[in-house]
Amino acid sequence: MAVLNRMMADHHRRLAAEKVRVAVLMIHPPVNKDGDKIGPAIKHAGVEVAGRIKVATARERVLAEVEAIMEIDAEFWDTLVIESQAALIDHELEHLVILIDKEGVTRRHPGNLPVLATQPDDWMLTGFRSVVDRHGAHALEAMAIRELYEGFQMVFEFMGDGGDAAETPKRKNTKTKKRGAETIRVTHFKHKLTQLAPVT
Ligand SMILES: [Zn+2]
Repeated sequence: MAVLNRMMADHHRRLAAEKVRVAVLMIHPPVNKDGDKIGPAIKHAGVEVAGRIKVATARERVLAEVEAIMEIDAEFWDTLVIESQAALIDHELEHLVILIDKEGVTRRHPGNLPVLATQPDDWMLTGFRSVVDRHGAHALEAMAIRELYEGFQMVFEFMGDGGDAAETPKRKNTKTKKRGAETIRVTHFKHKLTQLAPVT
């Protein structure tokens, strides 16, 4: 997968240097006998997600000859412009870390493959709009959104002055839902969060 190799070479040099092998599985949602979608392609903790990655088990390393397995929602993938597809792959790779011992030496399995683990996202946002409606700024989800926005607004240069996501993408071929300004920022972060798969 060209974009995987490019993201690894450009942004994940340690993974590239170790020639970590990542299988990418494009997952389609389950369908009924009429071909209608009856559930999400990928779920994590009961929530539909765009993708996830897990460290391969010992058996998978041997049988599939990969060190990590990435799953991507195939239909969602097709709605993304190529820049966002690259960002999604980059995101999943960001979860992968190579473990080192106390001396800073790469830990290795028998056979010399590096020992991998996954790291969690820098943030996860969940919440109920109804709870924010009832409790306002005191709702924990409202506090989290405010903290995220205030804490990161200097970092999120793409938002520009005033925090408007003027350059924000972009799904292809999907209808844009009209929402109040207040919810736009919430949904901006909330839509299709990718999540950490359990380390196996
Ligand atoms: Zn993630």
